[in-house]
Order: sequence, then structure tokens, then C-alpha cells
Amino acid sequence: MKEKMFSRLEEIYPELVEFRRDLHMYPELSHTEVDTPKKVADFLADLGLEVKTGVGGRGVVGVLKGGKPGKTVALRADFDALPIQDEKDVAYSSRVPGVMHACGHDLHTAGLLGVAKVLSENKEDLEGNVVFIHQFAEEVIPGGAKFMIEDGCLDEVDVIYGAHVHSTSPLGVVGVNEGNAMANGDTFEIEIAGKGVHAAFPHQGVDPLVVGSQLLLNLQQIVSRQIDPVKPAVVSVASFNGGDSFNVIPDKATLKGTVRTLHADVRDWVEESIGKIAENTCSAFGASVKYNYVRGYPAVVNDPGETERVEKIAKELFGEEKVQRIPPAMGMEDFAYYLQKVPGTFFWVGGAMDEVAKIYPHHHPKFDVQEEAMKYIGRVFISAVLEYLSSHNKDFAVK
Ligand code: MN
Repeated sequence: MKEKMFSRLEEIYPELVEFRRDLHMYPELSHTEVDTPKKVADFLADLGLEVKTGVGGRGVVGVLKGGKPGKTVALRADFDALPIQDEKDVAYSSRVPGVMHACGHDLHTAGLLGVAKVLSENKEDLEGNVVFIHQFAEEVIPGGAKFMIEDGCLDEVDVIYGAHVHSTSPLGVVGVNEGNAMANGDTFEIEIAGKGVHAAFPHQGVDPLVVGSQLLLNLQQIVSRQIDPVKPAVVSVASFNGGDSFNVIPDKATLKGTVRTLHADVRDWVEESIGKIAENTCSAFGASVKYNYVRGYPAVVNDPGETERVEKIAKELFGEEKVQRIPPAMGMEDFAYYLQKVPGTFFWVGGAMDEVAKIYPHHHPKFDVQEEAMKYIGRVFISAVLEYLSSHNKDFAVK
């Protein structure tokens, strides 16, 4: 059955490429997706699936009931784009100014629809059910996963798999990781209130830019001097704003940044430490401070057994040398929320462009990936579904 499905996936591949390119040309930002979920829902409905729209807001869920009783597997793809101007020179470049699929979510979506198509054509033989979770708003906090779960997308689900294409790994190389795979992702904002004054008379004011500069450097000591070096942490100030002229020291300056950690105790420490350092640095120079720390997605924690299942499947499909156990990444993913509810695993599939000059990191204006990655993701998904369902049915039969 599996081989038949793989050749069918191959057959419908051009249709998936077309779907992906259409999404690529008409990307939609997180929480504003309208046409994308509609296209997805239409595709799933054409397959005869039970389709729910507006799940948790803008999510789409397709339910495929297999011909035989059994467990339920969920597969997830995200479909939102990013506020980036597409700078690629290809026929399918974004037609929407300032918006671009620069993380491969278009490919995830088209690939999962291909899997839905192939599995639904073989539903009589399926020993259980499959839930296709098409998620909105993965790129911003709060993301769509939490809302979709609250709206019941995981009810009845026993296990979940998710995949992400990777633009700098060679095509078809699969990266798996058990346990803490991706970071707790938090953000913070610090507003420094000084005292504005003519720039020629700095002694009469309190300069929030100088205080902010000092603070920015002090924050770098959290990771380098306060955190156990074997426990990863990132504290990055990504924005420093204040003032708008040549000769006026402004009243205010604002720092915004990102914190990534893998461990809960480190996360707590960093949150508190930024506050203390901000407070003390500012008060030392007579400025006051407002500090706001927002906890974003929790860490992605992959189930060891399901990770091993995907690892074994990928090795059988693509060869031992194509599958790697990879270290945790400090990126974040709201796939974490699904994994807090049901076991599962989130894995990476390489999709680097074949010309080195065309390889760019995720979220880059020239980001692109080889569409063939869809087939690799699709094959792993199909195999994982079949294997999970049949192994659990065998358990049941033995009892
Ligand atoms: Mn992504």
C-alpha cells in the first residue's frame, strides 16, 4: 500500500507545486489569513474530508475517517507568511508588497494537502483516522496552535507529527531530536525615561540614549556571567529607539529584544535578571524604567518513542546517512503546544537550493527552498501514519 501511495504522491506532485506557488505569490500575514484557509478548505473538501473552518480563529481541520477502526494521528502544517519584501527573481515571487513566504510554510501546506489526497484515496485500507491540522499564525505570539487546541483540534487525537523544511540543509536530509528540541521564546521591552534637553547642555538632562547603551551592554552579562554555560540561553536586544534629531537629547528610549532558553529555571532567571539590571542601571544615572517581559511559546519537547519512529522510518526511506540526530535549536515553534497535549515529534527536512548562490537562511528576503522537500516530508508523514496505526492495531489484536 505504501509504495502505491508514494507513486501517487509522485504523480500529483506537479499539482502540489502549483498550489505552493500560488500561496507563494499571494502570501498572507499571521492572523489576517483569509484566502489561504479558504484554498486549503476547498482542497480538503474536494477530497471528501470532513472539513472544519475557522478553528480557533482561522485554522482549518480536515478529518479523514479510515475504513477500519483504530487510533487517530494528527499531521500539522502552518500557512502564514512574514512581513518581508520578496527579493527573489522568480516567476512565483510574492505579488503582495512587503509580505512573503520566507519560512516555507507555503511548502508545508501544499505538502500536507498532497498527503491528505493520497491517504484519502486509500482510506478504505486505513486502520484508523487522520486529522489534518492546517494552522494559521505560527510566526507571531500568540500563535494559532493554542487557539486551535482550545477549539478542539486535538480532541480524539492520539499522536501528532509536524515537519519543517530547512533552507540550508541538503535536500532530503532529515534532522530529528528527542527531548528539548526548540526553545522557550520570550520577548521583552524596556522603556527608559530620562529628561530631554538641548544636546549642547547634556548636564541639564538625563540622557536615555547613553543609559540605554550602558544597559544594552550590561544585559550581555546575563548569558556570559550568570547562566551555567552548559545550559543554553540567548538574550538579544533587537531594537533600540530614541530621539529624532541632531541636537535634542530625547526624553525616552526603548529597547526591545528576544530571550531564548531551553530550561525552565534559566527562563525564570533571565526574566528576573533583565528587570534587575534595567532597574539598577537606569536608577544609577537618574533615569526611570518600565519593564515588560512577555512569555511566548514554550519549548518544543519531542517524545522519545515517536522521535525514534520517525528516525527509523526516514532511515529506511532515504538511507542511514540522510538522517541525523541534531542538537536543540534556539528557534521557537508553537508546535510546542500540541506536544504538551499529546505525544509526537517535530522534525526537519532539508530543502537547500541546488545552487549555492541561491541558498539563504529562513526569514531572508531571498529565502527559497527546493519544492522536492514536499515529497520527502510527505513520504515520512504517510509512513508514520501507516506505521503508527498498524502497530497499535496489532497491539489491540494480540490482547
Ligand atoms: Mn517556520
